[in-house]
Amino acid sequence: MIIDGHVHIVPPSIVRDRAHYMAADRWFGILHASPRARLVSAEELIHSMDDAEVDAALCFGFAFADNAICRLCNDHVLEAAARWPSRLIPFAVVNPAEEAGLAEAERCLAAGAAGVGELMPDGQGFGLGDPSLEPLLALLQQHAAPLMLHISELVGHQYAGKGTVGPLAAYTLAAAHPELRLILSHWGGGLALYELMPKARPSLANVWYDTAASPLLYEDRIFSEVSLWAPTKIVFGTDYPLLSQKRMVARVRALGLNQEQEEAILATNLLRALGRLQADEVAP
Ligand SMILES: [Zn+2]
Repeated sequence: MIIDGHVHIVPPSIVRDRAHYMAADRWFGILHASPRARLVSAEELIHSMDDAEVDAALCFGFAFADNAICRLCNDHVLEAAARWPSRLIPFAVVNPAEEAGLAEAERCLAAGAAGVGELMPDGQGFGLGDPSLEPLLALLQQHAAPLMLHISELVGHQYAGKGTVGPLAAYTLAAAHPELRLILSHWGGGLALYELMPKARPSLANVWYDTAASPLLYEDRIFSEVSLWAPTKIVFGTDYPLLSQKRMVARVRALGLNQEQEEAILATNLLRALGRLQADEVAP
């Protein structure tokens, strides 16, 4: 089984009227300035999944700063998940810096969203230590639902969308909320390395790291390396449509991982993060 744990879809109206939304949201504008930065709706995602032999995808909109636009994305994601219930796992995007964000998260969780994210602190204007985040964190803990955050590696080249929220902020959040399930995107900006610190590891018990956009940032051997010390923590994610699902599945298949490692990365670790699989049901 292959589950893509990191996919962005937007409603057809946003695909069509891209320029309008680029002007309305600074971060969305920066990330989609290049005409090669594609936008797709659910229908196109399903085609890509069929082509790449991806069984299911955890999908969400783009984390706009304006909760009204987040809502448009969430409606599309929830409708799509209702249409393809065995293929799509919906997450909700909200801006927790605004009061309306909490109500939108409540609405979506009640309507079947399995979690919240991928949120973008830089683009949406909040910090991981902001008190305004607390009500959302409490809500997610109540539902045992994960929060997915865009976390950036703070070293290396600059590129459109590189954020300033990195491993330290993510670790501090995890340590302060040990019960909160966190999926930290883009290898948690490198936080996955700190799983090797015996004193840091307990605070990371409910943290997973997704591989979204990995080939743009790291050598592919990061999969097998991290797999050596955190085999149950790596969640396969492509960042489709930024990267091709088919090519990314092929890259992972080409790594020479053993079957257990591959299954964990491609499916079971995400099921663990979602609470759909108990840790002891599958050997690490
Ligand atoms: Zn991201």
